[in-house]
Amino acid sequence: KRLTIGVTGGIGSGKSTVARTFATHGISWIDADDVAREVVEPGEPALAEIASRYGDRVLTEEGRLDRRALRDIVFRDSVERRWLELVTHPRIRQRLLEHLQRMRADTAPYHLLVSPLLFESGQHELVDRALVIDVPETLQISRTASRDDVGEVQARAIIAAQMPRSERLARADDVLDNSGDLDALQRQVAELDRQYRALCGEA
Ligand code: ATP
Repeated sequence: KRLTIGVTGGIGSGKSTVARTFATHGISWIDADDVAREVVEPGEPALAEIASRYGDRVLTEEGRLDRRALRDIVFRDSVERRWLELVTHPRIRQRLLEHLQRMRADTAPYHLLVSPLLFESGQHELVDRALVIDVPETLQISRTASRDDVGEVQARAIIAAQMPRSERLARADDVLDNSGDLDALQRQVAELDRQYRALCGEA
């Protein structure tokens, strides 16, 4: 049996780093954030719907989606947020299904769906197991701040808008504790790789 493992965690928890480490074991992944960007590329029907609702203020000069302008509109308005989800989520889901189907045809026994909103978006229904990358909030903030140009205040606001750590952990099948160094991360990925291969019936 081929398994799809969902990988989730808050901002700066280490999802991308974990996915790249699984790749060193021959495992491929699809990132739901990349797919979410694909469905609003120029020429996509979702972008046309968004542009007809909000007008030019959500488009750049080149006709691409101005993500910051759109975020400003939906951030405080739950009705608009809901509308946007209805336009984008089914298309993201459809495209994810296509990617997952392609990965299932791979020789590797399992593959990953990396998604910051695995549970919130309902994408957990597309996976066999959920792996939560867990770090204390202080580390989430310092790692996010040193990677991006995101200030501590903004990092805190993003964390507050995401699912609480305790709830995420309660829904996890597996947990990777990423409070240690990169060696500790690699050791845990190696152990999970053994477990997942065993679950798939590999020796
Ligand atoms: P986002 O949701 O914001 O895309 P993410 O969950 O994918 O973030 P990463 O980008 O993998 O997180 O990690 C955030 C930052 O923390 C990166 O700069 C990464 O190099 C660093 N990092 C991740 N894990 C560790 C670790 N165990 N030790 C030190 N630094 C780490």
